[in-house]
Amino acid sequence: MPPLSDRSAPPLRRIAHLDMDAFYASVELLRYPQLKGLPVVIGGGRRREDDLLGRLNRERPEREWTAQDLHRIPLDFFPVLSGYTGRGVITTATYAARQFGVGSAMGLMKAAKLCPQAILLPVDFDQYRHYSRRFKALITEIAPLMEDRGVDEVYIDFTDVPGGQREGGRVLARLIQKSIFDDTGLTCSVGVAPNKLLAKMASEFNKPNGISIVREDDLESLIWPLACRKINGIGPKADARLKSQGIETIGQLAARDEQWLMDAFGERTGAWLHAASHGRDNRPVVTESEPVSMSRETTFDRDLHAVRDKAELGAVFTKLCEQVAADLQRKGYVGKTIGIKLRFDDFQIVTRDQTIDHYIADASAIRKAAGLCLKRAPLQKRLRLLGVRVGTLLTAEEAKATAHATPDPAGETDLTGQLF
Ligand SMILES: [Mg+2]
Repeated sequence: MPPLSDRSAPPLRRIAHLDMDAFYASVELLRYPQLKGLPVVIGGGRRREDDLLGRLNRERPEREWTAQDLHRIPLDFFPVLSGYTGRGVITTATYAARQFGVGSAMGLMKAAKLCPQAILLPVDFDQYRHYSRRFKALITEIAPLMEDRGVDEVYIDFTDVPGGQREGGRVLARLIQKSIFDDTGLTCSVGVAPNKLLAKMASEFNKPNGISIVREDDLESLIWPLACRKINGIGPKADARLKSQGIETIGQLAARDEQWLMDAFGERTGAWLHAASHGRDNRPVVTESEPVSMSRETTFDRDLHAVRDKAELGAVFTKLCEQVAADLQRKGYVGKTIGIKLRFDDFQIVTRDQTIDHYIADASAIRKAAGLCLKRAPLQKRLRLLGVRVGTLLTAEEAKATAHATPDPAGETDLTGQLF
């Protein structure tokens, strides 16, 4: 039996960051296992799978091709990057493609020059979301304190999970990795560290299918040699400013005086840079599921009339739109169903909404769409409450990939548009 002092000591904080390996591409490889080991990039067009099967049935009529035959589609039938023209962007590349210098966010035309033989597949968010929900459900069965960080990554609090402290978290990380792989065939990389900041860095150390453990005293050996950019939150602009001050590595950042950093970068940023470079981060793991919509509403001090109190109502309306826009932007979402909610002085509630053809998050676009909804509402009675809501949400990242996948309205050739 351990001594009493050991038993009463609080457990060390152990936070994991789990990142699925080349997630979109890996999900596509489940569907097309014949592409395993080949350079494959995802992006550039929306999935219309039936078109691929349709083309097969037209050109290779020796058999009937159905959705059950995806794994039998011959390699020479997949479109390749070679000759691609258009404005599509890569969302994910397989590790085989990355060896050619091809990677996420790169234009497909540039990628076509680096790796013309890479197979090009369109994005299929429905499928990625399906697997996203599945791997997250598996994690929460084992470790319930999980924070959703998007379609392919999560933070997990290992601290109080049985076995979460063993080998610094490695045992639990391995268990989670295995249960995800056994169920889905997908691999992930896990970093376990004293906090989210370090865990996020650690999950990159051993990709793909790796586990990295960072302990408090590993700061100097594992973290300080890294480039400042490896700190989540230091973007290209901040990095350039740091470099102009002769700060390239996290160790060099840590060597600077906190006051000096606050003078150079402002109080808040300077203090944060100082804490981050010393591996300090107290942010909790927040369990919160993906929002379905975001809304703001306000109850008036006195009931307002649509015509007589038009100016006052208009100002409140604009402010609500600005607040929803700020919520969306802060949380990284965009939406395309804009709605309003009215409650009248007799407590009757009326809602109107409208789905527009593109995703938005800015206040003026929300105001415009919400204004059209308001025009469709009965406004004879006095208003007690006004609300603005944005639904049909996507993460900004997903929307960006989808937008790039939309064929150029100007009629620019988009190869995937023709092939799928
Ligand atoms: Mg990933």
